[in-house]
Amino acid sequence: MAYSYEAPVSQSLFDRASVVTPGGVNSPVRAFRAVGGTPRFMVSGTGPYLTDADGREYVDLVCSWGPMILGHSHPEAIAAVQEAVSRGTSFGTPGEGEVALAEEIVARIEPVEQVRLVSSGTEATMSAIRLARGFTGRAKVVKFAGCYHGHVDALLAAAGSGVATFGLPDTPGVTGATAGDTVVLPYNDLDAVRAAFAAHPGEIACVITEASPGNMGVVPPADGFNAGLKELCAANGALYISDEVMTGFRTSKAGWYGVDGVRPDLMTFGKVMGGGFPAAAFGGRGDVMAHLAPAGPVYQAGTLSGNPVATAAGLAQLRLLDDAAYAKIDAVSAELRSLVGEALTKEGVAHTVSAASNMFSVFFTDQPVRDYDDAKKQDVFRFTAFFHSMLEQGVYLPPSAFESWFVSTAHDERAVERIAAALPAAARAASEATA
Ligand code: PLP
Repeated sequence: MAYSYEAPVSQSLFDRASVVTPGGVNSPVRAFRAVGGTPRFMVSGTGPYLTDADGREYVDLVCSWGPMILGHSHPEAIAAVQEAVSRGTSFGTPGEGEVALAEEIVARIEPVEQVRLVSSGTEATMSAIRLARGFTGRAKVVKFAGCYHGHVDALLAAAGSGVATFGLPDTPGVTGATAGDTVVLPYNDLDAVRAAFAAHPGEIACVITEASPGNMGVVPPADGFNAGLKELCAANGALYISDEVMTGFRTSKAGWYGVDGVRPDLMTFGKVMGGGFPAAAFGGRGDVMAHLAPAGPVYQAGTLSGNPVATAAGLAQLRLLDDAAYAKIDAVSAELRSLVGEALTKEGVAHTVSAASNMFSVFFTDQPVRDYDDAKKQDVFRFTAFFHSMLEQGVYLPPSAFESWFVSTAHDERAVERIAAALPAAARAASEATA
């Protein structure tokens, strides 16, 4: 596909990066391989906008893959970070900021009695499954195809977006022994979970699921699915782990738990709670968390865990996320969903706008999408054309058809108007695209 616009400064940065960094990026989906073209190197962000190294401004619908829920450079969040930095950047001791952030999480999310801070979502899910195995004395982990839980060895099988983008069935470097303890099941299929418990009696430590998946595009749990998982786990002595790294503090004040009210044994968080810094967490039932070192025998640690700058950023962001903020994000999301749907319908493009609270994505198919296999049946080439048209018109979408779109409190009328103005041409490009 030829692109009618250029980004010479980004291109030269990408050329330099490709010499010193594999594929030129530090996280694969940033490389634009799924959509082609030159990844944009961003230099600054303000509110709903990003500016790239060529001086072009974009309305940002990625929001750093979720964390920037107040938009970029929110003055109060920046002030909190500057104040924290002025006191030093890392002490390797406990500090009050960590306590305050943990208290905020525990106050918002009722099933979380205790929480441990870590530095990435990957660390959170890795530690949660280690704790589940330590607590139950069992080895096997059930996960769902299309759910991504970070690049934890045991959880990389059928891991959605990044892996879907690159067409890697499983990644080299994960040993058979590690993968052998992972049972991968189709999403939204409780019968498959029942069958797995029957096939492995007394062996399954936990079922881990995205609270509402956003890594195969947005595919919400069917009615009763999460509740059914919880029930099956309880009946079989396994722990139910809800991965809220993406949904946590985004889909409501209490994340997806605030939407469906199903009580997990353990939960994982990241993204929004770090305010754009590396901060994440796992937490849950007090009796389970008590197994974690130094209170208990399951080891887990981190030099930068609870980092004072990251905790200040996260805390500032969470404190600004009141009911009015969520109402605003929900409203902007609803408006964009209907604008995108209208534009695609007008051009006769088969599509499904799929939403889970304010997270949403567009599948280029009119068939229902309930799991990863359904998601893969869409016309990805139409997304590619749509993506490039939006990019050319100054709207930055996730560079993959298998990702959620994210909005923020900063997406105001002007930003929405700019998106609305770009949609007709993008919908036309999608309609005219060929495989
Ligand atoms: N879990 C979910 C649901 C995610 O979406 C992600 C990242 O996108 C992770 C875990 C991993 O988080 P991180 O990229 O911070 O390691």
